Amino acid sequence: MSFQIETLSALGENYIFLISDRDLGLATVVDPGDGKLVSKALKERELYLALILNTHHHPDHTGGNIALQEEFGAPVIGPMKEKGLIPGISRAVDGGDVVTFSTLRGKVLATYGHTDGHISYYFPQLKALFSGDTLFPFTCGRLDEGNTDQMWESLKTLRALPDDTQIFYGHERSETSAKFALTIDKDNEALKARAAEIVALRKQGKPPMPTLLGVEKKCNPFLRTDQADFRKVLAKSRIAPEDADPEAVFGLLRSAKDHFGQQKL
Ligand code: ZN
Ligand code: FE
Repeated sequence: MSFQIETLSALGENYIFLISDRDLGLATVVDPGDGKLVSKALKERELYLALILNTHHHPDHTGGNIALQEEFGAPVIGPMKEKGLIPGISRAVDGGDVVTFSTLRGKVLATYGHTDGHISYYFPQLKALFSGDTLFPFTCGRLDEGNTDQMWESLKTLRALPDDTQIFYGHERSETSAKFALTIDKDNEALKARAAEIVALRKQGKPPMPTLLGVEKKCNPFLRTDQADFRKVLAKSRIAPEDADPEAVFGLLRSAKDHFGQQKL
């Protein structure tokens, strides 16, 4: 079986993903915010759409559901807790459920926080995680509906995946997120190196996709709030005492990020 994951840039700074089985000529789309763009991409690749996966209900992730469903008859799988908000939903899933496409099995992970029912899809055979608006390079999603405890739990769930997991995320804001991370963790060599890599890729107009979990674990402050070396950095710069709760530190960083350049992520 030859599977391929492709990243489509949409709606300014959103990403949509195609997982395709080239032998069968079929594809699954993850978070189709723009139906026309997906339809065109499928035609160019001579693929037929078999399945639509949504991570959460926001229109920039679900806006193309209906048009694609009408064109291809593809079922829509989305989060159980947001069932009423997902256009055209055929099957509602939550953490622990499994979705299938061709010979692939995708594990559904509950990653609440950005929205109340947000889910992520993990395909072990592809070493790929579709994290929607939960985990991004150097940051996590904004808390639109959920709270810091939920987001911290979600990040711990994702952090437990293998280090070589490729993370396919929903928006491109890597450069500003790197700047934020560097303001609080400026001597982190892994962070500096990855930030430089991303700046170089962006200069070439390429999406820095995917990012590796093993790299994020070293660079992303939101994955590091319970780690001793990072706690020392935070204490030294008087951001948080070394013995503060990881949840509290996480909440503090999230607020700081919200105010940093008035970011939306
Ligand atoms: Zn969103
Ligand atoms: Fe989004």
